[in-house]
Amino acid sequence: MSREETFKYVHNAKIEDLFDVKEPNLEVPEKALIYGDETCSCCGEETAEAFIRMKEGKPYCIDCLEKIKN
Ligand SMILES: [Zn+2]
Repeated sequence: MSREETFKYVHNAKIEDLFDVKEPNLEVPEKALIYGDETCSCCGEETAEAFIRMKEGKPYCIDCLEKIKN
């Protein structure tokens, strides 16, 4: 297909022909499940609870914890 033919094809095609349009079959998780409610006390970034480490009673993200260590 030449460039021009491709252009015409795309313009004349229905969106359903170009893309496989489907309903997502996964439920979108609640925001709270993706982003933890812990805020790093160093950089202030909201971080998933699984990635928060407590140090001296304060929550730190893993990145900041690495910085503190070094
Ligand atoms: Zn941090």
